[in-house]
Amino acid sequence: MDRELAQFMELLDEELRKISCPECVKCGWCCRQTVCYYGEWDYEKHQCKFLTEDNLCAKHDEIVAYEQQLGLNPGLFGSGCCVNFMNPYRLRIIKSRQGGCCKDNEANG
Ligand code: SF4
Ligand code: SF4
Repeated sequence: MDRELAQFMELLDEELRKISCPECVKCGWCCRQTVCYYGEWDYEKHQCKFLTEDNLCAKHDEIVAYEQQLGLNPGLFGSGCCVNFMNPYRLRIIKSRQGGCCKDNEANG
């Protein structure tokens, strides 16, 4: 690999490490649309089997430990929300933070 290409790859790597998606507000929407690489679909609940009642991932610690071992950075968690467009659960949480009504917030269960 020549020097310019190596520099470009380094720069690209740096850019990819930066968080470029908006904050994850733990609404659980993504795990109700499909599963990630570590998930399993629950056909009755129509969500990942590992999504908890409070919209957390029951495999979080296991996944983080595994990805650290692989040297993955960024990993599955901590890089923001990639499904923020027209995501009603996320919008409700954000609205409730801004003082809006959150009584009907399905994401909070
Ligand atoms: S949809 Fe976005 S905000 Fe909601 S849990 Fe998934 S990543 Fe987080
Ligand atoms: S394993 Fe965790 S992060 Fe992946 S889809 Fe299931 S609940 Fe979501």
